[in-house]
Amino acid sequence: MKKNTVNDVTQLNPIDVRAIARPSSVAALQQLIKSHDGPVSFGGGRYSMGGQIATDNTLFIDMTGLNAVTGYDPAKKEITVQTGARWQDVIARIDPDDLSVSIMQSYSNFTVGGALSVNAHGRYIGQGPVIHSVKEIKIVTADGDLKTASPTLNKDLFYGAIGGYGALGAIVEAKLDLADNVNVERSIVKMPRADYAKFFDDNIRGNENVVFHNGDFYPPDYDTITAVTYSKTDKPAIVPDRLRPKKEVYLAEYLSIFAMTQVPGVNKLRPVVDEKIRFKTTEVVPRNYEASRYVEELEPSTRAMTTFVLQEYFVPADKLDEFAPKMAAILQKHNVNALNVSIRHAEKDPGAVMAWAQQGEVFAFVLYYKQWNNEKARQDVGTWTRELIDAALESGGTYYLPYQMHATESQFRQAYPRSDEFFALKQKYDPTQKFRNRLWDKYDPNGPKVDPETPQFRREHTKLGQMKKKFAEAVAPKQSSRKFKPPTP
Ligand SMILES: Cc1cc2nc3c(=O)[nH]c(=O)nc-3n(C[C@H](O)[C@H](O)[C@H](O)COP(=O)(O)OP(=O)(O)OC[C@H]3O[C@@H](n4cnc5c(N)ncnc54)[C@H](O)[C@@H]3O)c2cc1C
Repeated sequence: MKKNTVNDVTQLNPIDVRAIARPSSVAALQQLIKSHDGPVSFGGGRYSMGGQIATDNTLFIDMTGLNAVTGYDPAKKEITVQTGARWQDVIARIDPDDLSVSIMQSYSNFTVGGALSVNAHGRYIGQGPVIHSVKEIKIVTADGDLKTASPTLNKDLFYGAIGGYGALGAIVEAKLDLADNVNVERSIVKMPRADYAKFFDDNIRGNENVVFHNGDFYPPDYDTITAVTYSKTDKPAIVPDRLRPKKEVYLAEYLSIFAMTQVPGVNKLRPVVDEKIRFKTTEVVPRNYEASRYVEELEPSTRAMTTFVLQEYFVPADKLDEFAPKMAAILQKHNVNALNVSIRHAEKDPGAVMAWAQQGEVFAFVLYYKQWNNEKARQDVGTWTRELIDAALESGGTYYLPYQMHATESQFRQAYPRSDEFFALKQKYDPTQKFRNRLWDKYDPNGPKVDPETPQFRREHTKLGQMKKKFAEAVAPKQSSRKFKPPTP
């Protein structure tokens, strides 16, 4: 079979897979899984950032061909979709009925399957992990069988597969709760970071009028929070479109990100830019307009030399003021080229085995930063990432798994205390380790235990490393032939 390479949005993780398939029916997917005797992995939008979508020599199944709406009941506010569908497709389908997705990420490019498999969250208040909005899933397991799972039927599969990063099978269909597509009005409040917890308690927590909320803080001082809140309103929208139109080019966004990460001192002006330009006017838009943002807003013109990466840490709600200064200090100590840290809130997870909000409600700290595409940068990022993970763990928190895999095994185990239960489930549903990717290759004790972040692995898997190896192989025989000349008769 032809060799193929798959990569994620960062372009940091090229993976040579055995073949790529894009089935367009569940039956075809079942047949692929049943008939392929090697490892198999799944990708949706490929916005995860550390090799969660594949591992060497797998059969890579691109799930985006399975994208149909298979059931829709606007009166019940319920939709059933194949999971290769992207949120933007789901929104477009339900918008004419003035309905909206209940819980999704901040951008609409992600697939439903990717969102469920990482148990994603957004900026919604009174919500939390996406599992809250899932009524039922259909999943193809390693034997090729199609199983239905819900909080009452095949419970272990439901709570294992959501947040399970493709380890237990291909989630092919999901029945989701929907919400009303109300108009929302934006309000902005700036405050010292230390005042944010009280602001949240007084104005946001339990406020049923609030739909979206996040609190952003910026380098280099990380000491002021800009709280951005979208609340329900009866006022008419100020935009003509119901959904956000996709621009051909995001020039203004690109230039401002470039300036903030490349031009010294510009980040200091960020609060002024927010006040005078970005948040200058009051905004009233439909919920679907705000939900249908495109990640292209954040996309640089090239990722050849540097790339933009996300990380995320979760801490119990009462540890916000303990963790925020620790995080700021680590980012400052290592001169991390951060754009911002965005604080979100999430309610307790109802039972996912690999939950990131296991104990109760949490604040999420989403870090968006720029990194060079070289090995030194990668190892440096590893160092401060492990410090941040330690800080989150000390505060009784955890970190998010769709990003680079710098956590040590012991950090992973502490951060995900039910991982043994998860790996036992994997043994039950996938005893031959058919479903693999770099995340589970690294942390599953029954997997090959290959760490994609070690210098040796990196040497073997980067283009430069491969070129050096090829060069060494090409040169080695010549050198020996120079040294040893067979006698001429
Ligand atoms: C700019 C940006 C913003 C982001 N914002 C948020 C945010 O607001 N909230 C948040 O929670 N996350 C956020 N993320 C992270 C992102 O949500 C996750 O990476 C999510 O997985 C993206 O979905 P995807 O379709 O790209 O999944 P992929 O990256 O393609 O896959 C993710 C994982 O799910 C598995 N998988 C995918 N589809 C299936 C399937 N059908 N069945 C079984 N396994 C499957 C894959 O094997 C992989 O392990 C953001 C990422 C970026 C780049």
